[in-house]
Amino acid sequence: QTLGDFFDDMVRRQPAREALVSRHQDRRFSYLELQREVNRLASALLKLGLQPGDRVGIWSHNNAEWLLMQLSTAKVGLVLVNINPAYRTTELAYALNKVGCQALVTMARFKTSDYLGMLRELAPELTDCAPGHLQAARLPALRTIAWIDLAGEGAEEPGLIRFSDLLAQGDAADARVTEVAATLKSSDPINIQFTSGTTGFPKGATLTHRNILNNGFFIGECMKLDPDDRLCIPVPLYHCFGMVLGNLACLTHGATIVYPNDGFDPLAVLETVQAERCTGLHGVPTMFIAELDHPRFAEFDLSTLRTGIMAGSPCPIEVMKRVVSQMHLEEITIAYGMTETSPVSCQSATDTPLDRRVSTVGTVQPHLEVKMVDPESGAVVPPGQTGELCTRGYSVMHGYWGDPEKTAEAIDADGWMHTGDLATMDDQGYVNIVGRIKDMVIRGGENLYPREIEEFLYRHPQVLDVQVVGVPDLKYGEELCAWVIAKPGLPGQPLTEQALRDFCKGQIAHHKVPRYIRFVDAFPMTVTGKIQKFKIRDAMKQELG
Ligand code: ATP
Ligand code: MG
Repeated sequence: QTLGDFFDDMVRRQPAREALVSRHQDRRFSYLELQREVNRLASALLKLGLQPGDRVGIWSHNNAEWLLMQLSTAKVGLVLVNINPAYRTTELAYALNKVGCQALVTMARFKTSDYLGMLRELAPELTDCAPGHLQAARLPALRTIAWIDLAGEGAEEPGLIRFSDLLAQGDAADARVTEVAATLKSSDPINIQFTSGTTGFPKGATLTHRNILNNGFFIGECMKLDPDDRLCIPVPLYHCFGMVLGNLACLTHGATIVYPNDGFDPLAVLETVQAERCTGLHGVPTMFIAELDHPRFAEFDLSTLRTGIMAGSPCPIEVMKRVVSQMHLEEITIAYGMTETSPVSCQSATDTPLDRRVSTVGTVQPHLEVKMVDPESGAVVPPGQTGELCTRGYSVMHGYWGDPEKTAEAIDADGWMHTGDLATMDDQGYVNIVGRIKDMVIRGGENLYPREIEEFLYRHPQVLDVQVVGVPDLKYGEELCAWVIAKPGLPGQPLTEQALRDFCKGQIAHHKVPRYIRFVDAFPMTVTGKIQKFKIRDAMKQELG
């Protein structure tokens, strides 16, 4: 089955159920209404001359149009290319050209970002071209740009098509849509997603219907989603967290998708959960921290919440505990995965005992295999020992787009995806992520895992968030460095370096106490809220000379 088939089946079963609420746009769609718009947009895309296999980009924050694009491209075999709304001209041109996007949908503006301005800068030819017939030297494959008129500005944009006009050109009962849909296979590519760029330059993973539709389904199974569930999705859609763990987990279970906002805003999340009576909430750890620590947190009734997913980066045990006790998320699950594996390979279940749920990423998902290997020898390590996590099964990407070499480095001849993450598995199959191979610190020949030290420092009551990295050192090879965000604290009692050192004394081994401690206001982050340790390392290298 393709995503289009699966969605149409769901609409037949429950046409009147609410499928989508986009709070910031004040828009609501039942499953049937959503399907009508999806078919209309699919028809409009075909009328642009696009054909199955063609790439169509979306460069936008979360909104209803994003979901329409996801479903309509899937319906007629186009490959949706998720583009990070934080990208600027160079990154955008790289992404569009790398995969040869023929069409692009974007927002006009967002806060201080002028998306159309950036496009005009990249393609000054735009103003002289008829809409749909763009010929731009720096974006050679691109023919059509549609813009989402969120503010209802009414202005004309020379050379561009307004998204609502594009939609109006489609026919919800277009026979060609059904004809094209019938030719598609589940092994066809449906989506190109760029990795977060946490460790360097983002890579474009090509995913198929089979990859992400199955993954979305099993994720929803782990959360026990059903048509009465209403899932609040503050995580970005351009990333697999929003698109698969959010949109697809809901749609495969007939649940309701709720977008609180376009960009992340903790207050909007709290308001939305209360007003929409959400039963689920997703987030990366930093988002949950921002919600829990919001000054108005206590004003909101979050008692409808039941489940959700915390994922994307290490989930501190203390944050998990607060989310369960203060946000009513008794059935929250943790997921582990990566863009290249659709993304989830391990997830806890809603009934996994809490101590397991807070301390592991759960067990391997159905129909997938996971093994830990010695990164050097490739031999499987015994239970309980640390090795590189490798995964195999339906979820492994088709490959990095246009990059057979990188693909071959990541996926071996037997089909195992080598994740670059270090992990352990206990004798009951619970997986624990130790950290990235690239983040491991080797100090004086000893392997140190920043995660362990972060978990410890996080227990200090005045520590809001903490990141530990390795920095080069002449004597030891590498030394540990902690960047700490302190809680405001009582007047006159700021958190000091000495206080942290005293806190460590006698509690963790001397060599695990960071040599350098720095207090900062924020960490360098990707827009998904992932902390870019390589930037912390670079800043420290600069500072230390
Ligand atoms: P890039 O590959 O471009 O450097 P990235 O690896 O962050 O970026 P993603 O595919 O978005 O890009 O993230 C996958 C990675 O996130 C995993 O390889 C893992 O390191 C980390 N991760 C995901 N979930 C968890 C989790 N539950 N606990 C710890 N780490 C996690
Ligand atoms: Mg990665």
